[in-house]
Amino acid sequence: MRAILMGPPGAGKGTQAELLTQHFTIPHISTGDMFRAAIKEQTPLGIKAKQYLDSGALVPDEVTIGIVAERLAQADCSNGFLLDGFPRTAAQADALAKILSDLNIGLDGVVNIELDDKNLLERLTGRRVCKQCTATYHMVFNPPLEPGKCDKCGGELYQRSDDTLETAKNRLRVYNEQTEPLIAYYNEQGLLRRIQGDQEIEKVFHDILDVLE
Ligand code: ADP
Ligand code: AMP
Repeated sequence: MRAILMGPPGAGKGTQAELLTQHFTIPHISTGDMFRAAIKEQTPLGIKAKQYLDSGALVPDEVTIGIVAERLAQADCSNGFLLDGFPRTAAQADALAKILSDLNIGLDGVVNIELDDKNLLERLTGRRVCKQCTATYHMVFNPPLEPGKCDKCGGELYQRSDDTLETAKNRLRVYNEQTEPLIAYYNEQGLLRRIQGDQEIEKVFHDILDVLE
């Protein structure tokens, strides 16, 4: 399975990616997770990316495209992958098309999870993430069994610094301006699969399986 998970910030991409990558046994390639790991480790990439993540802006295309190209060339991607949060600009989509054509592979589908802004802001501001394994929870909609502790690995949960109301609003603006136009791009290629995000996590998961399988 070679697929892209699209949708505005907070739509449920990371949550669904956890389930889908287990189901298909494929790597989960989240550019957001890659940037956050680099920031935590204070690598040159992390130092470059931090200011963009802090404000909710996009990391420049040349940086982002480079890390995805490197990641897709790794051996574990040869049998499939799930991209989450990439591409986010027209230049990234063009670069991805070139990378895939050079590797002589195509996409099975582009899943777009749809949700309105009110729900997105509620989801973003209530999100909590495991420091250790990056599993995602929500204070109200998907709480951990024990407050502040990851069900899967026991790691500590934290609130992302870009999940404040102000930065979340900026991320939705950035999404509408730069990423939303990609929906038409993939629709024209016959790859787009639309999914209603305002449903239980399990229902969204089964809807995605239905359109991919
Ligand atoms: P994205 O990766 O698209 O930014 P996440 O998967 O991190 O989104 O989900 C955003 C927040 O919404 C998280 O707190 C998550 O637990 C919660 N969430 C995800 N899917 C659902 C759903 N179907 N219903 C309710 N809350 C959800
Ligand atoms: P996410 O984890 O997908 O919500 O992404 C968090 C942040 O990482 C975004 O607000 C951007 O600053 C950065 N980011 C993630 N993916 C990309 C991308 N494809 N292009 C540019 N910036 C990105």
